[in-house]
Amino acid sequence: MKLVGVVGAGVMGSGLAQALAAHGYSVVLVDRAQAQLDRAADEVVRYARTGRLFGHDTEKYGDLTQRVSYTTELGDLGAAEFVIENITENWSLKAEIYPRLDEICPPETIFAANTSCIPITKIAGATKRPDRVLGMHFMNPVPMKSTVEVIRGWHTCDDTIATAMELLDGLEKRGIVVNDMPGFVSNRVLMLMVNEAIFLLQDGVAGAAEVDEIFRSCFGHASGPLETADLIGLDTILYSIEGLQEFYGDSKYRPCPLLRKMVDAGLHGRKTGQGFFSYS
Ligand code: NAD
Repeated sequence: MKLVGVVGAGVMGSGLAQALAAHGYSVVLVDRAQAQLDRAADEVVRYARTGRLFGHDTEKYGDLTQRVSYTTELGDLGAAEFVIENITENWSLKAEIYPRLDEICPPETIFAANTSCIPITKIAGATKRPDRVLGMHFMNPVPMKSTVEVIRGWHTCDDTIATAMELLDGLEKRGIVVNDMPGFVSNRVLMLMVNEAIFLLQDGVAGAAEVDEIFRSCFGHASGPLETADLIGLDTILYSIEGLQEFYGDSKYRPCPLLRKMVDAGLHGRKTGQGFFSYS
């Protein structure tokens, strides 16, 4: 596999483009917003420069930037052998894009959904190739995280899983295969934890720094739940927890009002410079 299509040039799509290009893949990065493509291109340049600065393999980082092309046209994905979709966590947007991908790409092209919570079987149902659709839940930041949650939808065939694992091998990452349910393993638990941490803050039980410090110091977590929320993006957290509430019909997933208020106020975490913490 040489050419990989990446749809969505936000936090995840731009990280994926960097990781793929650094491992020798050519990437077509698509977004409907030119500004997002420009930002992603800047990040790819910065990533290549940092790699070279730290004396990493010059071959790997030397021509990395030339391996990524940027476009607003989904139609440019016709030659991609594998497409990884990373658009906004919103079912109506995803439901619209998959039938279009289905028309553009040859029947053998595999579609991997990098969604936080939307069931893979539901996504696969929007295509005419449900056996060639799977979930690949990459972790953020993509170039630095070693493990990917690989999700088998109802119809996903063994060949599709094997090709995805091969791609992960090429990225020097490990895949853990799980079955399909909304939120899979990781976000079914993580989203509850983050949401509850926001309730703690809202209820005045502790400040953001204290909440996170308890998880870091007492439980040995690498980062606290609120810092994690800032990294993921508060908008993505809200869409995910709303999705879980809808899919399971369970009120334990009701979003904390403070989360909603912060998203309405444009405080989306690291990507906007302000969330539970400041990033100037
Ligand atoms: P983001 O908001 O940073 O980026 C989403 C991008 O999708 C934007 O650039 C937007 O312009 C683009 N987009 C929206 N609709 C589009 C369309 N129809 N065609 C082309 N581009 C379109 O979001 P993100 O954090 O990168 O998340 C992307 C996906 O990855 C979501 O499904 C999310 O749940 C999942 N995810 C996120 C994380 C994380 O830590 N942020 C981790 C794993 C998975």
